[in-house]
Amino acid sequence: MPPIKLALVGLGKIARDQHLPALATNPDYQLIALVSRSIHEQQALTAAFPEAKLFTDLDQLLSSGLEIDAVSLCAPPQVRHAQAARALAAGCDVMLEKPPGSGINDVQALIHQAERHGHVLFATWHSRYAPQVEPARAWLESKRVTALKVSWREDVRHWHFNQEWIWQPGGLGVFDPGINALSIVTRLLPDGLYLTKARLDFPSNRQTPIAARLEGALAGRASGPVEIELDWLKTGEQSWNIEIGTDQGRIELTHGGGRMLIDGEQIAVAGEQEYPGLYARFSELVERRKSDVDLTPLALTADAFLLGERREVDAFEW
Ligand code: NAP
Repeated sequence: MPPIKLALVGLGKIARDQHLPALATNPDYQLIALVSRSIHEQQALTAAFPEAKLFTDLDQLLSSGLEIDAVSLCAPPQVRHAQAARALAAGCDVMLEKPPGSGINDVQALIHQAERHGHVLFATWHSRYAPQVEPARAWLESKRVTALKVSWREDVRHWHFNQEWIWQPGGLGVFDPGINALSIVTRLLPDGLYLTKARLDFPSNRQTPIAARLEGALAGRASGPVEIELDWLKTGEQSWNIEIGTDQGRIELTHGGGRMLIDGEQIAVAGEQEYPGLYARFSELVERRKSDVDLTPLALTADAFLLGERREVDAFEW
């Protein structure tokens, strides 16, 4: 297959930290365009990609006549649907950052649009590509799961400094990182889980939650409690931990799926590989003309908002 002519849209933190480095080392792609509202002020970055054409918005790119095969969308979720719908309508395959939208139905509409016109749609869940997720899934396959506990505690001021979109409707608040945990657990537990109770803490001056406590139950062959704690005010040591009890021992994934412990003993540690994994998967999907969109983590998030008892907490300032 010739390299996929790809445009990267929205040059924020994740595009710079992960997408550009992953693309730079993957021969399956030719980075043909960069789209940023402030592209002309970003000489240092654009100089590193001299072959990429520069655009200030997606419409300018799509009407330019430049031949592109695919776009990778890295802007916040509130603009995801509009950008993806325009790119699909222009004949592009589309890769979506997580979460794939700010609602379920806007993503469903994209699935139908892609299907109708034979385009590939890939809704990425980068945390599923953390190195210990597949080994943990394999370990769990022959066990009966009896409990799930998630502790996802990080410092929003460190990881999201000044990103106002996270506090606006559709920005998901603490579920922006929390949905990564949900993406891992829904991969590890194919029979799934459901929520029965949720408490969401909203700062008095913000429109999305800063913390959440979710309770639920395991579904299917598994049976037992689910407890999920999301906290955005954790300073010091951060925790992105998932603990799963089974009839044959306890498995823990820490560091967001980077490390695995069984009955407290560390089994494996591996380096970062999430975004190279995502781009490898997208090129495989493009070659097979197949879409990959799993809405389960977003549906669980939506359920948390539907069930959520809302509690007002102290105002948040950066
Ligand atoms: P960010 O640093 O705020 O960057 C988002 C970029 O999107 C902005 O720099 C801007 O790029 C563009 N943008 C912002 N508002 C826009 C609007 N209204 N219309 C069009 N473009 C707009 O955010 P981020 O951290 O990169 O996160 C972006 C997405 O990646 C989110 O969905 C997030 O969940 C996901 N993600 C983030 C991380 C992380 O560690 N930060 C990790 C994994 C996934 P231009 O100014 O260049 O147009």
